Amino acid sequence: MIPAGFEYHRPDSIADVLGLLAEHGDEARVIAGGHSLIPMMKLRMAEFAHLIDLQAIAEMRGIRVGADGIVLGAMVTQHDLIAHDRLAEAAPIIREAALQIADPQVRYCGTLGGNVANGDPGNDMPGLMQCLDAVYVLEGPDGRREVAAREFYEAAYMTAREDEEILVEIRLPVPPAGHAYVKQKRKIGDYATAAAAVLIGKGADGTVDTASVAMTNLGDVPVWSEIAGKDLVGSACDETAVAAAVDAMLGDIDPVEDNRGPVEFKRHVAGVMLRRAIAAAWARA
Ligand SMILES: Cc1cc2nc3c(=O)[nH]c(=O)nc-3n(C[C@H](O)[C@H](O)[C@H](O)COP(=O)(O)OP(=O)(O)OC[C@H]3O[C@@H](n4cnc5c(N)ncnc54)[C@H](O)[C@@H]3O)c2cc1C
Repeated sequence: MIPAGFEYHRPDSIADVLGLLAEHGDEARVIAGGHSLIPMMKLRMAEFAHLIDLQAIAEMRGIRVGADGIVLGAMVTQHDLIAHDRLAEAAPIIREAALQIADPQVRYCGTLGGNVANGDPGNDMPGLMQCLDAVYVLEGPDGRREVAAREFYEAAYMTAREDEEILVEIRLPVPPAGHAYVKQKRKIGDYATAAAAVLIGKGADGTVDTASVAMTNLGDVPVWSEIAGKDLVGSACDETAVAAAVDAMLGDIDPVEDNRGPVEFKRHVAGVMLRRAIAAAWARA
């Protein structure tokens, strides 16, 4: 279908974006890669009188990798994430996850900011960002504020971002070596039936000293399972610890039946994804 008519704006500074949002209020929406928003507009499930394109805002495009952390501009595309070798060295789980999103055509346009700001529980980056303990930097009329990815998601398509704010960048610590993003989908280009993001740090004594577990598309919001991570810490990642972590994760998720399968099937797939991710992360730790 063809979307309803709208006025197109292409500001070249964050200040101008915020000015346009303040001027047009509910009638305006920012557009990044357009690969979630335009399909919704074409289906007439969303209609906005003003679209504010973020493409000309150079300061939202950088990737900075330092010993003290990583900063990713909201307008960095999924392709940019895959192509950046220093980022892949410092945080290989980001390239691993981005490669499992859709197809190259979508990844050339779809941005990290659009993926995490949308609040779509099917998107892969929100769970990944929770696993990485990322912080979202939002800018609005009162300046900048930071919200942890683990605190950002309130319900499907509802987040802690206020209407007059935009997401400008994402900050994260350099993760430990043990990592895996494992996703089950029905076909290439599909959203996850279930996906697991796992980070594991190995201590000098050969046991797990840090662990973080997050799951995608198994509830209204991405699920960071704090208890699943805790169940791995201090163990040698043996069967008892892995089974406890999987049990804990299954207590945290809340999938619903849809065209990807019934609830019991999704819970089964979630367990399989998490087991595979833990095994791969531990092998790399
Ligand atoms: C065929 C297909 C398959 C796909 N498969 C997957 C998949 O497997 N996994 C996956 O994760 N994604 C998938 N996607 C979604 C894709 O990754 C999207 O591009 C992405 O989720 C949204 O990014 P975008 O830049 O296109 O955002 P847009 O569509 O431009 O925007 C999405 C929403 O976020 C808001 N927004 C965008 N940027 C900002 C910002 N900086 N601050 C505040 N609000 C903002 C917009 O107002 C809009 O409401 C798929 C898309 C398609 C078309």
